[in-house]
Amino acid sequence: MDRRSFLKQASLVSGAAAASTLAAPAIAQNKRTLRMVTTWPKNFPGLGTAAQKLADNITAMTDGRLTVKLYSAGELVPAFECFDAVSTGSADLYHGAEYYWQGKHKAFNFFATVPMGLTASEMDAWMYHGGGQQLWDELAGKFNIKAFMAGNTGVQMGGWFTKEINAVDDLKGLKIRMPGLGGEVLRRLGASAVSLPGGEVFPSLQSGAIDATEWVGPWNDLAFGFYKITKFYYYPGFHEPGTAMSCGFNLDVFNSLSAADQAIVQQACKAATADAYAEFNANNGRALNTLLTKHGVQLKKFPDEVFDAIAKAADEVVAEVAAEDEFTGRVLESFSAARKELAGWGSIADQTYALYRNRAMGLARDV
Ligand code: CA
Repeated sequence: MDRRSFLKQASLVSGAAAASTLAAPAIAQNKRTLRMVTTWPKNFPGLGTAAQKLADNITAMTDGRLTVKLYSAGELVPAFECFDAVSTGSADLYHGAEYYWQGKHKAFNFFATVPMGLTASEMDAWMYHGGGQQLWDELAGKFNIKAFMAGNTGVQMGGWFTKEINAVDDLKGLKIRMPGLGGEVLRRLGASAVSLPGGEVFPSLQSGAIDATEWVGPWNDLAFGFYKITKFYYYPGFHEPGTAMSCGFNLDVFNSLSAADQAIVQQACKAATADAYAEFNANNGRALNTLLTKHGVQLKKFPDEVFDAIAKAADEVVAEVAAEDEFTGRVLESFSAARKELAGWGSIADQTYALYRNRAMGLARDV
């Protein structure tokens, strides 16, 4: 290369560099990093992983316009301060579960789960096609938040009991770890329900400080190792029949996104809801087999008498919560109407089909 052509090349390069320098700020302005705070430990199976997948999906689907950076519980703010952080704008979005915000407003419970509430597929129907999302928008909007469902655990297990539950009286004096409204239901039936953080659950059950604990379902419960303490594994979990996870945006941040990016966020949350539920179901089925065949766990169904008493107490607890203010009353009205319609249809559709199929083909567990 002679000197003249070298200079010509060099000027082309520097010209290109100058052009890209001029263009760079405009590109940078269209790229944003959003801080997602979560209520979960980093990569906690099914919950922390759902948050991470949602963050990664929004980043990928917006082609780099938005980069969602996840902070697990305690990294930026403690788990239960996620709501305030997003409400005030010190974080841009959260991934959690709405019942954690019940101290802000009791109606938030309905957008996660309530005792004797909706299953995962019923929750989808109410939220997406039954008026649930509109009520949630009305509530979250008061706190400068726009929230979507972003995962579901499916129905949880009743929990691990060191004593058998054969009658309602067996609940009297029972020390059980069950947070939230479910715990209140059991208190009405004479149990002593406590709320313990994750790290204290196993040692408390082991030492006898508590007689029973709920956690999630076979997948998470197997990992926790509760089968090493007791073999009595009760179902179904009346207290969390289909717990929805949620993703809440600071409303100003959400409104500042392009219409395309708002739609991407909304659809990514919908995909997260379906994906988490599928992941829980797939893993729960496998883990239940492992618990029963490798660890000698005994499945126990709550006796009808016990479950009916729980259902009655749950109805009272939820009604009392709804009676506290006009808005929560409207939520319960919408929720109850949806539950009635969905139960009427589901009981002759999915539920009867599954019951008949499993019996006829020998697929049901004989318990
Ligand atoms: Ca639970």
